[in-house]
This record gives sequence, structure tokens and C-alpha cells, in this order.
Amino acid sequence: MTEIIRTVAEIRKYVEDQKGQRKKVGLIPTMGAFHQGHLTLMNLARKECGSVITSVFVNPIQFSAGEDYDQYPRQPERDMKMAESEEVDIMFIPDVAQMYPKGFDTHVDQNEKGLPSKLCGPFRPGHFRGVMTVVLKLFAVVRPNLAYMGQKDYQQFLITRRMSLDLNLDVEVHLLPTLREEDGLAMSSRNIYLGPKQRKDATILYDSLMRAKEMVGNGESSAVKVTTAMKKQIRAVKGARIDYIAVVNSETLEPLKEIKGKTLIALSVRIGKARLIDNILL
Ligand code: AMP
Repeated sequence: MTEIIRTVAEIRKYVEDQKGQRKKVGLIPTMGAFHQGHLTLMNLARKECGSVITSVFVNPIQFSAGEDYDQYPRQPERDMKMAESEEVDIMFIPDVAQMYPKGFDTHVDQNEKGLPSKLCGPFRPGHFRGVMTVVLKLFAVVRPNLAYMGQKDYQQFLITRRMSLDLNLDVEVHLLPTLREEDGLAMSSRNIYLGPKQRKDATILYDSLMRAKEMVGNGESSAVKVTTAMKKQIRAVKGARIDYIAVVNSETLEPLKEIKGKTLIALSVRIGKARLIDNILL
């Protein structure tokens, strides 16, 4: 049976008790509106941890002005059933006042020129600061041994792993591959914003990544040639607007001219009111 906990005090007490029983605690931080991608994270946590906690919190401070905080899908009952099917022990569902009580005034930052300044950073001012702050709070409250994140949000994973190392949080952050729909579209809670035509158009993200992979597989090592081919392919789709396409080192997120070593190809494309991201690791 999955149990719901809504307060910091109660989750602390629960975790203390689990650790007293020498159980490994695994945390899956989420914003809810679960899909199969979320469930695979829970599934792996279940295999690796004695105690599995999934947090559901639509974090207001990681949304910039004009973004979709109010519209973000909220489906607590459905989420609960899905978490139960993965044998999650606890759904931690704090409200905004639990996480940011009156007077809250501390945020977490990384180097101005560091990981948060890359890829999505310039398009979402303050986003990663909000993410780091909430993740640090969740780690401080839950004190997990392990945390599970998805490759779809690869930049978020790198930033979190860096923060965990830099601040000695002692949380091992595991990365899981992106779960996809049959036509390749990365699963996302935001895909519900897409109308039927837009949903078809959205397959262009993965198609262009596969084209890039094929080019590299055939010996192309020029990043600019690869991104030019991707741009051309995406621009052929009328409703798609590119935020960025980037070929970067997958540890530093610094742009690469020549594709060699650990490489990430990442992109963000807006279709209708949805801003979609995807990436592949080479
Ligand atoms: P979210 O609820 O969208 O904030 O995502 C919560 C966690 O699930 C994050 O670590 C995401 O990277 C991960 N996630 C989201 N979509 C997918 C996906 N399609 N495949 C794997 N993991 C995902």
C-alpha cells in the first residue's frame, strides 16, 4: 500500500524510522502527471532500495513568468494508482506553504558560467536556480541515499549531480534512459498540450536526433554540419520553432566543433504552446 505524506515533519520521521531499520532510501523527485517514464524510475528504485519515496510537487519557483505553472497538469488520484502499481512506499505531496513558508529567502546557485548557463538556461531565466533549490530542499528533508532522474532532462541531472558532490549531500544520483512513445516522441507530462496535428509534428525532435546519429555513424564529425541538417529538417515542419540545437560535451555541456568523445546532442523546439526538449548521448 502506498501511503501519502504531506508534511516535512512526518516525512522526516518516516525516513528516520526506515534508516533505523537499515533500509536504503530512494527518492524520485517529480511534478506528477505520471507517465511510463516516471514509472520506470520508480520501478528501478523499487529494485534497488528498501524504501521508495516519490515526491510530487509542482515547484512554483522553477517556472518563469509567462510559463505554464497554472496550467501544469495535476492528477493526484491517477498518480496515486500508478505509484501503487509500482509498489512505491510513500508519495510525498507537500503544498507550497510546506516547502516555502512565509519568509523563505534562500536559493541555490551554481557558477554563472557553469552548467545552468548552458542549453535551456538562457531560455528559462531562473529555472535551474528554482530546480536546485527545490531539489536541495527535498534532499535535506528526505535524506535519500539514492535519487533517480531521467535522461530527457539531462541538464537537470548533471546540475543535480554536481550540486550533490559540491555540497557533500551524499546522494547518489542515477540517470535512466528516456522513455518514448511508439513514434519516438519523448514521454512528457507536457505532451497533453499538443493538438492532434501538433502531436504528429512533435515527432520531428526525435527524427532529427536519429538523423544526426546516422550522420555521425556514417563518419560525419563536424558539429555544424550535423546541426545544419537538423535545422533544415525541423524548419520543414511549419508549426515548429527551434529554441536551440546543440552539440556539446556531455560532462561540461561546452559546445563541440568536432564530434568526438562523450557527446550530447540536445534540442528544444516549441510546437504550439508546448516547449519540448529531447537529447541523445553518443
Ligand atoms: P517531471 O515530473 O517531468 O519533473 O519529471 C520527473 C522525473 O522524471 C525527472 O527526473 C525526469 O527527467 C523524469 N522523466 C520525465 N520524462 C521522462 C521520460 N520520458 N523518460 C524517462 N524519465 C523521464
